[in-house]
Amino acid sequence: MADAYTRFVRSAPGALIAKRTGLPRPAFLPRRGDRPDVLGPVVVLGASAGADDIAHRLLEAGLDVRRRFDELRSVGSVLVVLDEIAAPADLGLTLLPMTSAMRRLAPGARIVTISRPATGEDPARDAARGAVEGFLRSLAHEMRGGGTANGIQVTDGVPLDAPGVTGALRFLLSPRSAYVHGQFLTVSSADGTATEDRAAPLAGRTVLITGAARGIGAAIARTLAADGARLVLLDVPAAGTDLARLANELRAVPVQLDVTSSGAGKRLVAQLRERGLVLDGIVLNAGITRDKLFANMSADRWESVLAVNTTSQITMMQDLLAGEGVLGTQPRVVSLASTSGIAGNRGQTNYGASKAGIIAFVDALAARLESHGGTANAIAPGFIETEMTAKMPALTREVARRVSSLQQGGLPVDVAEAAAFLLSAEAGGIRGETLRVCGQNIVGK
Ligand code: NAD
Repeated sequence: MADAYTRFVRSAPGALIAKRTGLPRPAFLPRRGDRPDVLGPVVVLGASAGADDIAHRLLEAGLDVRRRFDELRSVGSVLVVLDEIAAPADLGLTLLPMTSAMRRLAPGARIVTISRPATGEDPARDAARGAVEGFLRSLAHEMRGGGTANGIQVTDGVPLDAPGVTGALRFLLSPRSAYVHGQFLTVSSADGTATEDRAAPLAGRTVLITGAARGIGAAIARTLAADGARLVLLDVPAAGTDLARLANELRAVPVQLDVTSSGAGKRLVAQLRERGLVLDGIVLNAGITRDKLFANMSADRWESVLAVNTTSQITMMQDLLAGEGVLGTQPRVVSLASTSGIAGNRGQTNYGASKAGIIAFVDALAARLESHGGTANAIAPGFIETEMTAKMPALTREVARRVSSLQQGGLPVDVAEAAAFLLSAEAGGIRGETLRVCGQNIVGK
């Protein structure tokens, strides 16, 4: 549901006032079910063999695929394949034909670039690869009508038909990535497997979600259940009633546990064993804020935030990894960071520290899980409409909503969709990444 300001500027008198005064007019963001998974026609730009191959595969998937804009009156999706660029001077040839199409993009359109990350080996090629990032992030600021622009970076040696590239493409083209904007996802290996059951991509997988009783955790639970996962939902005993209600709704297993309590991880392992549950996925979502300027920061505020948001994740993963037989063969971990952990935020030295810690933690954890065929990634949400952000002072909250290119807060389901993608079989080649779900919030890089 849109916030009060957005509802006002979408009304006839509100729209008129906003237009005359130049106030932001947030567009409607289509989400899962609001439109087809891929909006056509899809224009594939780029002259490489990889571009031909992607166009061919999209055509085989039954999509309306074009290689030029020609007389198209409306364009649903644009794929810009730049895997073979060798110097910045090469970029214009592929990118400039898009200028005339920018005003023909359909509402909720998608632009996705596919390129390779700089390697430090070839200055001209690295400059071109780096330039793709600056181009895409700037273009994202110019998108209108709820459209998004994102990029996939495919590490050298990884083919463009790797499961991770196909999965990332499918996610970024779809309405499931409604609030992912101006971001890059790196696919660093050809690991992962194609999803066969598109209607239930997580069927047969068991996923634990911490902090599941409400907010983003509850949305993740509903989205993963819709994707076919079996769920273990964990939250503090004080949230037991909400947790039981959600577990009943989703036929999930509820676990009442404070993740900071002594021996929490070991007790969880014991409960999983008792019920014969083996985890294929873990979403480390439980988190708290205790905001104060650092000048007024008490030890209690500092310690409690670090304990819930960071230390509990480290110890829980240590206990799960040590607990013989409770993790599946290719475990996927998704951890909740925050844009505050990237850019910092006034009044959030404790929270910013805890979430920056998580970004570094998933990188190290990913390296550890690689030998198990597993992955670990983080999601850094920007401003998401939950009870946590409802506690912010009204003016700060209103500003936080508008300082993104999409000019509105995200919904818990936007974070949930990103988690579902990172847990999917296709995302096996994506490791140690932090994916921002922030509508291209202007804070940080
Ligand atoms: P929320 O406060 O609505 O929900 C958090 C849940 O975690 C609650 O159900 C709570 O009971 C549970 N929890 C807290 N401490 C716990 C503990 N010790 N043991 C077990 N469970 C515990 O928060 P939210 O907005 O849904 O946020 C979810 C996650 O997303 C958090 O990690 C948060 O830092 C992160 N995040 C949120 C936003 C946002 O805009 N809402 C932005 C960036 C990051």
